[in-house]
Amino acid sequence: MVPTASTLLSAWEAGAAEAPLDRAPSLLRSLGEIPPDQNLGAMTVGQCEARLFELRRALFGDLLEAVATCPTCGADVELNLSLAELGPPLAEHASAAITLRQSNHAVAFRVPCNDDLRRLGAAEPEQAIGELVERCLIEARTADGHPVAAAQLPLELQQAILEAMAAADPGAQTLLEVTCPCGAAWVDELDIRSVVWTDLTDWVGRTLTEVHQLARAYGWAEAEILGMGAWRRRWYLEALGW
Ligand SMILES: [Zn+2]
Repeated sequence: MVPTASTLLSAWEAGAAEAPLDRAPSLLRSLGEIPPDQNLGAMTVGQCEARLFELRRALFGDLLEAVATCPTCGADVELNLSLAELGPPLAEHASAAITLRQSNHAVAFRVPCNDDLRRLGAAEPEQAIGELVERCLIEARTADGHPVAAAQLPLELQQAILEAMAAADPGAQTLLEVTCPCGAAWVDELDIRSVVWTDLTDWVGRTLTEVHQLARAYGWAEAEILGMGAWRRRWYLEALGW
């Protein structure tokens, strides 16, 4: 169901009070996309992003126009992306524990959730891998049964854990293969949280400008103007010569 303009504005206001990484996810709760008692922090990153792809399509359509900058020649490459094609499937059971036997170790771990992402926000990329494994590790033992700390796990095993997390929770990362007319090819990451939040912020700016113009011209109240729908607002603005 498409939310009303007034509901969207309130959802944006509530989100703006959150930390940047939490703004788009908070919309899922404000707009009723997840049950009110569902803990957003405990939702896996991929489950959250899969829902944000759906929310962006419902609010602003499937087409995403984006610009990537070529690392070789510096040109801007315009991208026309279909969110339905890029969006990950919703992995309902991604929060189940995963076990792995490799490099003479047996490990059990879970996939990262929103809380993990928030805690890692400030970490350097090299530290982030170790920290993520440490946060998500449930148990690690050597082949002869001795417990091992996350920091002691071989690097190749840490890498394997990350790969298993990505496979179990598709959508935690959406990669785009981009090519430039100059021949360069590279991989960019699509940040759906930032897409959803930026699009909604732009919409809020446009909508409040309309409210301002109509209130000033006709003396109508904000609630009346928001309640009349986008098509009618535009009609009155055009009548005013906007
Ligand atoms: Zn180029």
